[in-house]
Amino acid sequence: MNILVINSGSSSLKFQIIETDQTLIDSSTDKIKLKGLIDRIGTQALAKISVPNGIEIKESVAIRDHSAALDYIFKKITSGTLNLDGIFSLSDIHAIGHRVVHGGEKFSKSVLVDKTVLKSIEDCIDLAPLHNPANLKGIQATLALFGEKVPHAVVFDTAFHSTIPEVNYLYALPYQYYRRYRIRKYGFHGLSHRYVSYHYRKKVGIERDKVNIITVHLGNGCSICSIKEGKSFNTSMGFTPLAGLIMGTRAGDIDASIPEYLAHKEGITLSDIDILLNKASGLLGISGLTNDMRELLDEEREHHDRRATLAIDMFTMRIKHYLGAYLAEMGGADAIIFTGGIGENSSEVRRRICEGLQFLGIELNEQANKEKCLGVEGDISTPNSKVKAWVIPTNEELMIARDTFRCVNGLPAF
Ligand code: ADP
Repeated sequence: MNILVINSGSSSLKFQIIETDQTLIDSSTDKIKLKGLIDRIGTQALAKISVPNGIEIKESVAIRDHSAALDYIFKKITSGTLNLDGIFSLSDIHAIGHRVVHGGEKFSKSVLVDKTVLKSIEDCIDLAPLHNPANLKGIQATLALFGEKVPHAVVFDTAFHSTIPEVNYLYALPYQYYRRYRIRKYGFHGLSHRYVSYHYRKKVGIERDKVNIITVHLGNGCSICSIKEGKSFNTSMGFTPLAGLIMGTRAGDIDASIPEYLAHKEGITLSDIDILLNKASGLLGISGLTNDMRELLDEEREHHDRRATLAIDMFTMRIKHYLGAYLAEMGGADAIIFTGGIGENSSEVRRRICEGLQFLGIELNEQANKEKCLGVEGDISTPNSKVKAWVIPTNEELMIARDTFRCVNGLPAF
């Protein structure tokens, strides 16, 4: 089945076409047929499309909205210049899977799109005012192009965390604010945490309910998740993706009194502070240089920049903090899995996170740790390590394609 996977932002559209037949557990049957990104929709956009046969398109083109972006993509596909394997026209796309950031408390799994589902996603706009409207734009655009006869599924970033127990998802605010406004921890990056934990279980051949795992997703956004017997048990992002770990430009956890104090001192508004916490903090805010971990590591190595080192040390210390907390909450774990751009590629960051954690049963194998970069997965712990450490490259698009396949074929979620 050829599935068009769409990840729609307010001015961008990321897409892949993946052939999947997920009744088979062996993922070697999944085939990526095309990948692309259209950025800066609404102005002179930048379009990138690549095909495994080596053909690439990079061009600047005027694209007014998400529908026009889809038209552009399908003109390229049907023109024949991409030489795609088995895809010649719209009818060769059998289903469409959309990533939706927030499913609130309504969605605990992926579902097929109908009017009620669309209305429920709209109802969650209040909780994700930047993301859900952008995701809806993508859905409206594919519905307009393909019509309702082609099945559409939605896959939520929050759904995996719907199993977090009340004791972990509630904030200690007056309870009525949960009842009235559903203020609680929702958690994000669910597709990634779910994918890497699933992949780990398949690799080592352990059943879902026989293993406790901590997954550490370190990209531009960062979050950590404890997975008890296959179910999300706690996660570091909260009501919004601002909470928890230090990220590229987001502060992560801070004392809740700081915004008011800062607003008073600087004469700025709470919404200015929201922007400051989301866009000017984290690695960028501490280093004063960049939000990019690779550049910080270079600065440290080449110029011994004190604040670059401080930013990296704060970043890794916060992760240690959560690892300790989650090991205590779950009563230990069988494995820790690193993923995301930093988690998959930086052996140095992984080394600093695991340094000194031998007393918890985490022992890195230095050589294996150095070798697992650039898409290489595997065990990075010593044979004696009580808690295994692994690197597994994430694949959120594949997760969307597989869920879409399952929804369309009425198969249970895995
Ligand atoms: P996103 O969250 O936007 O999907 P990614 O998962 O691609 O982001 O992660 C981006 C981060 O990964 C950046 O901070 C980048 O510097 C970092 N990164 C990528 N490769 C390396 C590397 N070899 N060493 C250290 N950091 C890296």
